[in-house]
Amino acid sequence: MYQLKRAWAEIDLDAVEHNYREVRRLTGDKVKIMAVVKANAYGHGSSQVSRLLESCGADFFGVSNLMEGISLRRAGVEKPVLILGYTPLDSVRRLYEFDLIQTLLDRDYARLLAEAAAREGFTLNTHIKLDTGMNRIGFRDEGDGELISEVSRLCYHPNLKVSGIFTHFAAADEETPQAEAFTRAQHGRFMEVCRVLEENAYSLDIHCCNSAATVFYPEFHHSMVRPGIILYGCSPTGKPLKEISLKPAMKLMSAVELVKTVKKGEKISYGCTFEAPRDMRVASVPIGYADGYPRSLSNRGFAFARDKILPIVGRICMDQLMLDASEANVKPGDPVAFFGGDSPIEIETVAELTNTINYEIMCGVSRRVQRVYLRGGQICEVEDYTL
Ligand SMILES: *Cc1c(COP(=O)(O)O)cnc(C)c1O
Repeated sequence: MYQLKRAWAEIDLDAVEHNYREVRRLTGDKVKIMAVVKANAYGHGSSQVSRLLESCGADFFGVSNLMEGISLRRAGVEKPVLILGYTPLDSVRRLYEFDLIQTLLDRDYARLLAEAAAREGFTLNTHIKLDTGMNRIGFRDEGDGELISEVSRLCYHPNLKVSGIFTHFAAADEETPQAEAFTRAQHGRFMEVCRVLEENAYSLDIHCCNSAATVFYPEFHHSMVRPGIILYGCSPTGKPLKEISLKPAMKLMSAVELVKTVKKGEKISYGCTFEAPRDMRVASVPIGYADGYPRSLSNRGFAFARDKILPIVGRICMDQLMLDASEANVKPGDPVAFFGGDSPIEIETVAELTNTINYEIMCGVSRRVQRVYLRGGQICEVEDYTL
């Protein structure tokens, strides 16, 4: 458990547990929770987060691809794992070996997957994805009245055990009347198909709620919800939510490497884009865009050290950046926070300044950044992906 103290992300497992319990409060005990842990649990570390959530009672896990699914199994996760996206057909044996549930993306994919499973001589566990308006993946209503019978037929295919059906909302996080109407229309299309399957007494997991829908549309929970971002303590809208109490779990940190005085008129960093307007104290910090801290925050972002907000001066480099530390008595080794935790900088502020969303900032924290796990405020594990 060696902590390098160069650039690291503190992951507060107590916060993740708190957020999980908040989701559980919204769903009640009868609805299953599929914890979405794709993209390395949105940058938080899928092994640690999944093991924690499994011990808290999470019923299911959602990942984006086969390798993420295998990685959960290697971490010891035993609960069902659904691959929400595409798996190449030449990898079907691995789905079977690692007991992963594959999403059926459309009719052609379902047919080819079934053929591949038949050739290998096994039955694959699957969930059917319906495209109800997102136009990404899923079975679509082609207007030929075939959708329902097609989906029903799949439910007794010898090589595809269908154990669930789901759809995904395009705008559940938006509060406009148009977005709400769109979400309700998507749900209506989804229900048309689910109703027929239920009448035929197929016992399926029915799920459509991402974080936003889990919070805003409790009547759409059905048998399972699929929250991602709220488990990590952030809002899917980027704005505070009154329905649920969330604790952001990630704090991005680094430490001052050196402090110097830069004279009035001197330039700082690549391109000489910053000229010192006065003599200033400048702190160099070993974190850069290769760590996932966006380069577009050059001369715009800020960090927090010694109880002061310090502006970033000059271009952000691959591995380092410079802070105007004139107002703070920082010394080499002092911790610097870039967002999250008890710092006054929210990840949403960083996202806004870079014209993106909190999701992208947390997923973007690179594998060079050590993940330092906290329980009761104490370090309990350090993950270094580069070793
Ligand atoms: C990523 C994803 C989710 C979780 O979305 P959040 O907005 O993070 O809750 C749910 N379902 C599917 C299909 C996804 O791809």
